[in-house]
Amino acid sequence: MSDPRHDDTLPAGDTPGGRHERPAAVLFDRDGTLIEDVPYNSDPRLVRVLPGVPEALRLLRTAGIPTAVVSNQSGVGRGLLTENQVRLVNARVDDALGGFGTWVYCPHHPEAGCHCRKPKPGLVIEAARRLAVPAEKCVVIGDIGADVLAAQAAGARAVLVPNAVTRAEEITAAPHTAPDVLSAVRLLLGHGPETAPVPVAETWGWDR
Ligand SMILES: [Mg+2]
Ligand SMILES: [Zn+2]
Repeated sequence: MSDPRHDDTLPAGDTPGGRHERPAAVLFDRDGTLIEDVPYNSDPRLVRVLPGVPEALRLLRTAGIPTAVVSNQSGVGRGLLTENQVRLVNARVDDALGGFGTWVYCPHHPEAGCHCRKPKPGLVIEAARRLAVPAEKCVVIGDIGADVLAAQAAGARAVLVPNAVTRAEEITAAPHTAPDVLSAVRLLLGHGPETAPVPVAETWGWDR
């Protein structure tokens, strides 16, 4: 029986921490992954960055790995949000975290039959295109099964960072999980999880 820790025994698409598998880009889900999930949030003042996220982005920036956000915002299609409100919230997150390479979101109603709403691959494919990297060399980090499925549908890899809304079967089905975004990024960069503790809390002031 092969040792699952031995990267060479695993298929290339299943080695997020493998030293030959550094991602060409990391694509993040927004709500419940980068920031607290405030359903259909239209107010930038309600943006709260989740613990470990700023440090994770610093690590990626230092490593020269481009980043993007791929987000379902069906509140637009449901008539609960305007696109401008989505853009204002996105801008707040972008500002707080030092800027992402690109932002892509799906504004459509879940029943609109679009090709961008996760678990469809459209957002992942578009983010990869804009970053000029192959989708299959990207990794998606998200908090629910739809993030993982969108990644897989686009040929990308995925790391699930579960939270209270993540279903048990989504966790079971995920190829890789991590307890938080910083751990997920350390995994992708081939850092041991023991190299530094995850900060218990990040202090983020909004009065800059
Ligand atoms: Mg989410
Ligand atoms: Zn869509």
